[in-house]
Amino acid sequence: SRFRRVCVFCGSSPGKNPSYQLATVQLGKQLVEKNIDLVYGGGSLGLMGLLSRVVHDGGRHVLGVIPKTLMPRELTGETIGEVRAVSGMHQRKAEMARQADAFIALPGGYGTLEELLEVITWAQLGIHDKPVGLLNVDGYYNSLLMFIDKSVDEGFVTPAARQIIVSASTAHDLISKLEDYVPYHSGVASKLTWEMEQQFEHS
Ligand code: AMP
Repeated sequence: SRFRRVCVFCGSSPGKNPSYQLATVQLGKQLVEKNIDLVYGGGSLGLMGLLSRVVHDGGRHVLGVIPKTLMPRELTGETIGEVRAVSGMHQRKAEMARQADAFIALPGGYGTLEELLEVITWAQLGIHDKPVGLLNVDGYYNSLLMFIDKSVDEGFVTPAARQIIVSASTAHDLISKLEDYVPYHSGVASKLTWEMEQQFEHS
């Protein structure tokens, strides 16, 4: 794979339909099969914990990036693999993004949506040129994709920027689409902006 490490956003809950957990296990197995390491938000809750266990059990490196405020074990549970403590939620997302070659969102709630939309926005701005994939398990994200299509129709998202989101219903198809992804922005500008981000972070 062209990816060394992938960042996955997913529910801190397991979801009601067992297909969400099944898809999480399948994504974990795909990462293992393709020798891809994992970076995620840390902890053992919900789909997050399930994915980290599958990838770790499969012998790949797992990096959990946890804000100090979420460190107490009763909040997120034990993190498998390597744990990196950061000072806040913003630093966490920047660190997860820096460590990954691509992003994947599984089903999840507010946290997952926020993380997904942020990396899409960053791609649009040229802050990074890494592919972003939506694992649309059992049509969970159909209404989000329809909403985004509406924002294209209404003139708030350009048709070119719509292409930033790559979606598929299985982990196998999603990873192969992400490997073929042609960046919306690429090259020098994005690297420069990354450095600006870091300065912003340390100021
Ligand atoms: P949600 O989709 O609202 O369950 O939030 C899950 C996403 O937000 C994950 O990808 C995490 O990075 C982050 N997050 C939200 N709540 C937690 C939590 N209690 N423990 C660890 N990460 C969390």
